[in-house]
Amino acid sequence: MMRQYELVERVRAYDPRADEGKLDRAYVYAMKMHGSQKRASGDPYFSHPIEVAGILTALKLDGDSIVTALLHDTVEDTDATLADIEQLFGPEIARLVDGVTKLTRIELQSDQSKQAENFRKLVLAMSEDIRVLLVKLADRLHNMRTLHFVKSEDKRRRIALETLEIYAPLAERIGIHTWKDELQDLAFRELHPEARESIVTRLAFLREQGEPLVGRIIKELQEKLLANGVTAVEVSGREKSPYSIWEKMKRKNVSFEQLSDIMAFRVLVGSIEQCYQALGVVHAQYPTVPGRFKDYISVPKPNGYRSLHTGVIGPERQRIEMQIRTQSMHETAELGVAAHWDYKQHTGDQQTEGRKYRWIRELLDILDNAAGPEEFLEHTKLEMYQDQVFCFTPKGDLISLPRGATPIDFAYAVHSEVGDRCVGAKLNGRLVPLRAALKNGDQVEIVTSKSQTPSPTWEEFVVTGKAKACIRRFIRHQKRHEFMALGRTIVEKAFRHDGVPFTEKAMDQAPRLFKLEKVEDLYAQVGEGLLTGQQIVHAVFPETRRTKPEVVGDANVVPIARARGKVKKDHGYAVPIRGLIPGMAMHFAKCCHPLPGDRIVGIVTTGKGVTIHTIDCEVLEQFQETPERWLDVAWNEPGDEVERHVGRLSVIISNEPGSLGNLTTTIGKNRGNINNLKITNRSQDFFDILVDVEVEDVKHLTNIIAALRASPMINSVDRARG
Ligand code: MN
Repeated sequence: MMRQYELVERVRAYDPRADEGKLDRAYVYAMKMHGSQKRASGDPYFSHPIEVAGILTALKLDGDSIVTALLHDTVEDTDATLADIEQLFGPEIARLVDGVTKLTRIELQSDQSKQAENFRKLVLAMSEDIRVLLVKLADRLHNMRTLHFVKSEDKRRRIALETLEIYAPLAERIGIHTWKDELQDLAFRELHPEARESIVTRLAFLREQGEPLVGRIIKELQEKLLANGVTAVEVSGREKSPYSIWEKMKRKNVSFEQLSDIMAFRVLVGSIEQCYQALGVVHAQYPTVPGRFKDYISVPKPNGYRSLHTGVIGPERQRIEMQIRTQSMHETAELGVAAHWDYKQHTGDQQTEGRKYRWIRELLDILDNAAGPEEFLEHTKLEMYQDQVFCFTPKGDLISLPRGATPIDFAYAVHSEVGDRCVGAKLNGRLVPLRAALKNGDQVEIVTSKSQTPSPTWEEFVVTGKAKACIRRFIRHQKRHEFMALGRTIVEKAFRHDGVPFTEKAMDQAPRLFKLEKVEDLYAQVGEGLLTGQQIVHAVFPETRRTKPEVVGDANVVPIARARGKVKKDHGYAVPIRGLIPGMAMHFAKCCHPLPGDRIVGIVTTGKGVTIHTIDCEVLEQFQETPERWLDVAWNEPGDEVERHVGRLSVIISNEPGSLGNLTTTIGKNRGNINNLKITNRSQDFFDILVDVEVEDVKHLTNIIAALRASPMINSVDRARG
C-alpha cells in the first residue's frame, strides 16, 4: 500500500502547486473513516481508495481528482456525510465526491446487462465533470484487479460482465485504451478462463515462431519508408490482446492462424503530411487489402482518436494491418482525454507554470460559465449524450429517449397501446402536462384510460419517430373512418334528394360500378371528395339522370343564391358535423373561424374531406364556378359536452398604459380563453391586434365583443374575416 508521503510526492512531482495539506488531510480522513473495514482480500479497506488515487497519478491528474479518489467511498460506505466533506474539503471536492457516489448508486440499482448501452449513456450523462468519470473508472479498474478475492462466483461474474459491457466501452469512448485493454482482459479472465488460456498459449507458441519474421517485417518497412523520404520513422509490431483476438474469432467464426490476426504494425512519423506520405509509400510498395483503409485523421473518431489504418500484403507475403499516426496522435490514442493533462514543458517559458493544467482549467471554466451542460459536453467532445435523456419506468426499466421527449414519447416507447391510451403522466410522483420535457433520471408513470385515443395535437410536440408513426397511423385510420361516415351521409342525402330508395340492396352493386371492392371504399371516396353523391345516384339509378334534368351538379349542392340569400335553410339536406374530429375529415377554415351558431357551408376538397366556412366568408367567391363542391352542413344539436372553438377578433386599442391588460382581462372575465395574440401594426396612438379566443359559440363571442366595445381604451372590435 502506498504511504501518505509517497502519494503526495508523486502528485507534487508533476504538479508542484498541488495542495499538499489537502492531500494529507484526505489521506488521513479516508483512513480514519474506513477504520477497521476490510476488503475481500483481507486488506484494510482504505488501501482501496489509496490504490485508486495511485492509478490516477499515472494519468497526472490534478490534486482535486486525487483528493476525490481518496474520499470516493466515504459517503457511500462510512458515517461521513456530504456536508462533512464540504466542510472539510470545500464545495468543489464535495461536488466531485457526490458525482462518484451517484454513479456508485446507479451501479447498485442496475442488474440489467441487456440495457448495457443505456447504462453506459446514463453514466456518461451523469458524469457532468470528466474527473468524476475518471475516478469511477479507476475505482472499477482497482476492483477488477482484486476481483479474484471476491468469494461469490455469481458476484464475480456479475462484476466482470458489467465491466465488459459498461466500463471498458466507457474507457474506450474517452480514449483511454490502456485502461480499456486491462479492464477487458481482467473480465475475460473471469468469464472465459479456458478460452483466454488457450489463446495465451497459442500466442506464446506463435511468438516463438514468428519473432524473426516480425523483426524482418519491421526492418523492411523502415527501410522502404526511409528510402522514400519519410524520416523520423518509428515502426513497431504489437501483439493484439487475447480478448480482442477472441472477439474477432467469435465475430468471424474462425480460428486464428495468420500473423495478421495477432499482430498490428504501427508507424509513428513526425507530421500529418508524413502520415499520408508514409501511406503512399506503403500502398505503392505492397498490394492493399480491399476494405481495410480508414482515414481517421481527416475524420477523427468521436473520442478524438486520429490515425490512418490500412491493410496490405506486406513484406514476406504476409498480410498485415497497419496504423500510421504522429506521436501526439499516439498519445491521445493511448490516454484519450487524459493526454491533455500532460504537462508539456516549454523550456525557458516563464508562463509554463500557469499553462500546466490549462486544459482542466478550461474545462472548469466552461463548466462554470456554460449556458448549460450541453455546451460543456460539446466542448469536452466526449460524445456524451447531450442529445438524449434517460428515464425509469416505475419498475426500474431504463428508457432512452431523445432530448425534448415528452411523457407521450415515453408511453409509446413502453408500448404503442400505452401511448394510444395515455391520458396523463406523473414525473417522480407528480402530475405533469403531457407536453412536459423529461429530464435525466426521471421516474415516469403513465396514466391510461381505455376510452382515450391519440390526439392529432400530440403530433406537434412529440419527438420520437415511434410516437409520431403511431399517432399518424391512428389519424389515418380515424380519417378513413370519418371519410366513410361523411361519405355515407352524403350518399344518403343524394339518394333522398333524387327520390330513390337508399337501401343496402341498391348499394350492393354500387362499388362494382366504380371498380371498387367494398361499399366502405366507395363511402370513403365520397367523403374524401374523390366522388360525388350524385355520381353514385346516377350510376345506381341511371334513370335519375333523365328524370331530374333540372338538377345541376351534386344533390348536396347549396345553390349560392339560397345559401347567401334569405331563403331558409333546409335542414333535411344539411350534413351534421357531429362526431367529426376537427383536423381529420372535417376542417374549420382558418380564414373565417366559424363558430357554433354561425351559418356555415362546407367545401369538399379533394383528398381532404370538407372545410367549413361561414356563409359570408370571402373565400367562398373562389368556389362560385364549382357548385358541386358545396355541401350543406349543420352544427350539432347542442349536447352536454361544450366544445371550444377558436374565434378571431381584430382589435384596435389605444397605445397607453394598461390598455392591453384591459383587453385580456375583459376577455377573461367573459370566460374567453386567449389562444394567440398578435400585434399586426403599431403607431403613435394605436395598436392593431389580432386575438384568437376560444369560445363556446358565436353568441359567446358576440358577448365578448360587446364587453370589449364598452371599454374606453378599446377603439374598435370586429370579428376578423379572411
Ligand atoms: Mn471504490
